[in-house]
Amino acid sequence: MIRDGSGSGPKIRGIRKIAVCTGDALQRGLLNRSDVIRAWGKILSGRYPNLSIEITRECPLRCPGCYAYEPEHLNGAGQLRELSDYKGDALVEKVLALVDQHKPLHLSIVGGEPLVRFRELNVLLPKLSERGIVVQIVTSAVREIPAEWKDIPGLYIVVSIDGLQPEHDERRKPATYERILRHIEGHSIIVHCTATSQTAESPGYFEEFMEFWSARKEVRQIWMSIFTPQLGATDVEILSPEVREKFINSMTELRERFPKLLFPDRVANGYREPPRSPEECIFSRTTLNYTADLKSKVTPCQFGGTPDCSQCGCMASSGLAAVGNYKLLNIVPVRSIFNISDRIGKAVGSG
Ligand code: SF4
Ligand code: SF4
Repeated sequence: MIRDGSGSGPKIRGIRKIAVCTGDALQRGLLNRSDVIRAWGKILSGRYPNLSIEITRECPLRCPGCYAYEPEHLNGAGQLRELSDYKGDALVEKVLALVDQHKPLHLSIVGGEPLVRFRELNVLLPKLSERGIVVQIVTSAVREIPAEWKDIPGLYIVVSIDGLQPEHDERRKPATYERILRHIEGHSIIVHCTATSQTAESPGYFEEFMEFWSARKEVRQIWMSIFTPQLGATDVEILSPEVREKFINSMTELRERFPKLLFPDRVANGYREPPRSPEECIFSRTTLNYTADLKSKVTPCQFGGTPDCSQCGCMASSGLAAVGNYKLLNIVPVRSIFNISDRIGKAVGSG
């Protein structure tokens, strides 16, 4: 049952654009052992295994507080809506050129709203699949997802759904529950939700959320991130340390009842102990983020600006943080091996 807009759920002022990250393939086990070795090979040769592209500056939504449209997002390169971006054949050619230059294992296509460029994606996605690249598209599902995308190997469609219908519809119209349900028909999607203080503090909120989305046959998995603020921000969405811990514990309970919820221990532990800075973040150091002009980079990670790593709620970063803290043979942290490999790679790359 879809709740109507008159519900008495928590009031969400705004959630920044969701932090779906390009390392998700690793967390989901999409990368097998040989892929991990290939990723390590790329790091050693100074390359990035993950690429993320803001494929358009346009989005028909105006989600309050969306980080992609915050002035600090591009660190002085201008505002996303003011950048020049590409369309048609030029976009297809430029994206393929970037991909062929960097040869990533995993590509995340975000926006703006990627479905604004669905015609170009209809051409691009099969070509990326032919190159053996795992692609994830992050969308609001504001318009119909093309039927032909169902059959593209290695494509993962991630739909951002920010809570139960009353809260979601209020902030993400016109990408309402009603439209999403229509537009995902026949597809197999991943639901991605970002927890805020308002939703995390509301008793039973995510249980109801899991009940609703787990029951949909189109939903293969549900991913949960946590609102990530910029340094020094005081956004009302920020989870207090107590609420954060309670949220993490509640997810580890809910995953037992709702198998579609992907919340493994390594993500839980990563959320408990996030990297202290971008330099410590394996995810940000293995991912290259391009914005819509296909030249400027978003740094230090997909959030841009100066994110508060100590409150990071990015699922990929947390998953990789936990991997980094793991000690090989109980002695050497994987992070140390990564740091050495990365230094060798950067030296090789600049040599
Ligand atoms: S749908 Fe558009 S406005 Fe909303 S968070 Fe995503 S990019 Fe920002
Ligand atoms: S830990 Fe920091 S750099 Fe890494 S994804 Fe989170 S906010 Fe970005």
